Amino acid sequence: MSGLGLDLDCELDLNLKFERDKDLSSLTTLGVGGRAEYYIEPDNIEIFKKLFKLNLNKYILGGGSNVVFPDENFSGLVISTKKFNKIEFDNEFVSVQAGCSLAKLVAEANKNNLSGLEFAVGIPGTIGGAIFGNAGAGGHGVAERVTELIILDEQGDLRILSLKDFSYSYRNFEINNIDKNKILILRCELKLRKDKQELIEAETKKYLSKRINQPIGRSAGCTFKNPKDCNLSAGKLLDDCNCKGLECGDAVVSEKHANFILNKGRASCEDIKNLVEECKRRVFNETGVMLEPEIKFI
Ligand SMILES: Cc1cc2nc3c(=O)[nH]c(=O)nc-3n(C[C@H](O)[C@H](O)[C@H](O)COP(=O)(O)OP(=O)(O)OC[C@H]3O[C@@H](n4cnc5c(N)ncnc54)[C@H](O)[C@@H]3O)c2cc1C
Repeated sequence: MSGLGLDLDCELDLNLKFERDKDLSSLTTLGVGGRAEYYIEPDNIEIFKKLFKLNLNKYILGGGSNVVFPDENFSGLVISTKKFNKIEFDNEFVSVQAGCSLAKLVAEANKNNLSGLEFAVGIPGTIGGAIFGNAGAGGHGVAERVTELIILDEQGDLRILSLKDFSYSYRNFEINNIDKNKILILRCELKLRKDKQELIEAETKKYLSKRINQPIGRSAGCTFKNPKDCNLSAGKLLDDCNCKGLECGDAVVSEKHANFILNKGRASCEDIKNLVEECKRRVFNETGVMLEPEIKFI
């Protein structure tokens, strides 16, 4: 028997190439986290399906640009989507496998004269991760473009979902009657629209230029969501409450943009959590607004 509870024949049959004791910090943009007991990067649906039927703790990882793993080791299997990344265009529709990077998708859409994803330029990570959190910018979110989703449900069965099966709002995506944390988004279909290349390029440049305010360094993007019932952004609230420059271990609130926490070197998950709590506390005490983290602690 292998440590995964599979018998060896089954494991060979699946040709599963697990890695053991995988360093998770190297798989995230923030660079924080312990090791995963098992790690795998499948490139086809059959392997995803078989993995989903295994009775063990699993975690789905896209580009790792929005997650903070704990300092302790992860007991179970981390399944990366990054090798499952094909794109197919059919007129104004595009079918994308979950592990395709948003950067590649935006570039390919532009090349095909398809408009609708310009706002996503510069957002790191995969399309799967982007749908999971409805990533976006400038009042848009990726979920707006989704017309169909193919998922693996908790039991490892394929399901095709259409518009009536999901809903979304600012940095939020929900699947009706399904806990999205227990499924795998395998593929999605997006509807874009034909437009002139020069207009698409100009729009893309406009969104890219706004990123000049973002700090360079290891982060997981914006720490907090913009609050709903307040017309100030999370960044402005944090700045007004003197959070810029706050430090905990090697974690620091960026001096350039208060809604980014940077890992200066060897920050731990505890450092990040403590800094998040301190920022929340300051903003709540001074303004009464309770900020909600956008970064995901596992
Ligand atoms: C410099 C920087 C700038 C950023 N700018 C933005 C921005 O402008 N707007 C914005 O919204 N975000 C931004 N982010 C945050 C981040 O890039 C997005 O949230 C991104 O969409 C996360 O995708 P990912 O593939 O990296 O997901 P991950 O971080 O790998 O995972 C995020 C969550 O999605 C789940 N998940 C991932 N793939 C799947 C799948 N296929 N099926 C089911 N669940 C899945 C994971 O389990 C996890 O819970 C930024 C981050 C950085 C570092």
